[in-house]
Amino acid sequence: LAKEIRAYGGKILTNHQVLSIKQTNGVANSIVVSCNGIKNNIECDGIINAAGPWSGKVAKLINQNVELQLTRGCGIFFTGQLVSQAINRCRIPNNNDIMCPSGNESLWGTTSQVVYDPDTPETNQDEIQKLLLGAEELFPNIRKYKSFRTWSGVRPLIKPKKIDKDLPLSRGHLVIDHEGTGLKNFLTICGGALTTHRLMAEDVVNKLGNKFGFDIACSSHVTPLLN
Ligand SMILES: Cc1cc2nc3c(=O)[nH]c(=O)nc-3n(C[C@H](O)[C@H](O)[C@H](O)COP(=O)(O)OP(=O)(O)OC[C@H]3O[C@@H](n4cnc5c(N)ncnc54)[C@H](O)[C@@H]3O)c2cc1C
Repeated sequence: LAKEIRAYGGKILTNHQVLSIKQTNGVANSIVVSCNGIKNNIECDGIINAAGPWSGKVAKLINQNVELQLTRGCGIFFTGQLVSQAINRCRIPNNNDIMCPSGNESLWGTTSQVVYDPDTPETNQDEIQKLLLGAEELFPNIRKYKSFRTWSGVRPLIKPKKIDKDLPLSRGHLVIDHEGTGLKNFLTICGGALTTHRLMAEDVVNKLGNKFGFDIACSSHVTPLLN
């Protein structure tokens, strides 16, 4: 993907934190980034905020709102392939649902807990015990297997107007055009899942392209990546 971006003239800056976003006459037109303490101003025609669980914080840099429901999730990695293919419980998605083999490891997860800060602390003992208890229901001997690391992250889910506690929150995605709240050429893409990242990119890029009057639709769904 990185090769493809560069082949089209794109530039990727890793480890650059967006510190501020600027606008002139209601049009977003530059950002200030910092890398190893060195600040740089980057001028631009438009900005896409794709900061996942931090999207709300990034939008706040220019007084915009992004309403997310942040849910923290954890998992445990076990050594070896405990299953030959992913085993997922056939029920409404809940905690402790899936054992997923990946190379010489197997991931058991996950949990879901509403949080308000995207910076997630490490998995704690209580969470590990709850995961092991859940895993034991499907794999009674699970505690005999070596678990060598845990993992946690925060899901940036779209906050519904009304939350039904019995149902999982949607993994759908949303493109927010901040023109409606007074800022042109600033879009946020939020929600979604890893499995829908390409479609998320397509939707937000098409929307920005339309704003600039480009008559070319994104074609990433039919374009093989360079290898
Ligand atoms: C516990 C858990 C389980 C999941 N399970 C699944 C699953 O089974 N299937 C599935 O498809 N998806 C799953 N996902 C969802 C998927 O991983 C998320 O949708 C995805 O991580 C969010 O992607 P994103 O690109 O929007 O955000 P991220 O991947 O979080 O990327 C946001 C980026 O923005 C950067 N950033 C933040 N602030 C700034 C700033 N000021 N300046 C510059 N950069 C900044 C961050 O460093 C980060 O690199 C799961 C996620 C979690 C947490």
